[in-house]
Amino acid sequence: MWTPPALDARQQEAVALIGAARRPLFVGHERPDADVLGSQAALADGLSRRGAEPVICNPDAPESGFSFAAPACGFGWDKGRRLPQHDLIVFCDLSEVGRTAGLAERLLASPAKKVVVDHHRLPDDPFWDALFWDVEAAATGVLAARILHALDVHLDAEIARGVLLALVSDTGFFRFDNTNAEALELAAECARLGVRTADIFRELKQGREARFPAALGALLTRTEYLDEGRVALIVEERELGLGGLVGVGDLALDVLRSVGEVDVALHLRELEDGRCKLSARSKEPAEVHGLASGLGGGGHSRAAGATLSGPLPAARERLLRELDAVDVRPRS
Ligand code: AMP
Ligand code: MN
Ligand code: MN
Repeated sequence: MWTPPALDARQQEAVALIGAARRPLFVGHERPDADVLGSQAALADGLSRRGAEPVICNPDAPESGFSFAAPACGFGWDKGRRLPQHDLIVFCDLSEVGRTAGLAERLLASPAKKVVVDHHRLPDDPFWDALFWDVEAAATGVLAARILHALDVHLDAEIARGVLLALVSDTGFFRFDNTNAEALELAAECARLGVRTADIFRELKQGREARFPAALGALLTRTEYLDEGRVALIVEERELGLGGLVGVGDLALDVLRSVGEVDVALHLRELEDGRCKLSARSKEPAEVHGLASGLGGGGHSRAAGATLSGPLPAARERLLRELDAVDVRPRS
């Protein structure tokens, strides 16, 4: 049985704002991932059961392959125009307004109250009016389920699909060390409602293009070992032409972590616009949050990221310098 933990006063305040909104606007981080989309889908469908008219506007369109999880209102994205009409803004899976990229200015200019629903380490400069936060939650989708429960919205198969999508993706199908009892209990609740992890695995991980294996191979052959083999790094130039291929970087990072000596796995990828995206992962007890935040990013203890300015060789140098400066391997 999934029994959500009791809400603290700050969380109750956030729930009250969400429950009172007629037209909540949901916003996630740039290049929205399955946790953004799954938590938004669950909240949007759940709140519409109570008569609200939710709307979703993310900084970017969802990657292909997420249409199976779309809520009734659809996954909208920024087309550079005015924000959709709204009386509340709910930020899902982010707590730094800068991660909404081109939307940030318009969001901050809105007179509507702003609620953050998130499980990342919090930044020092809050921009929100209310916060529903738990760093122990495996995914923002878990927080979505807790909010709906607090509003007396029962999980059904549709809502559960969003929750489980968020859960499986942020826990790597329950393999990462953020997987906890609540994640498993909530997943069991979703299974009881007929939502199968196998179906989500099929949608997310088994619909790839024929060039995927060769692309993974190309990334893996770029593996460099640093720090006596404890750090593994893949640097991906734009010329490699893998830019649009979803999931290949995550899988490469999984392979790097499969090496016994490796406790920090890094993927530095040159984006189309010349900036460089760092994805960092680690094995317990190594931590990569400090590394990512030192480079202007953030995330979780063992899964973090940052966007660096280019060109790629300079970004690589900055990464290596930061790696020297921070202690990714705290010894207790
Ligand atoms: P990624 O490597 O993009 O899958 O991100 C790993 C984790 O770090 C996710 O929880 C992201 O939300 C977070 N993250 C990625 N990039 C950034 C960034 N620039 N700033 C803050 N957090 C980030
Ligand atoms: Mn995310
Ligand atoms: Mn997340």
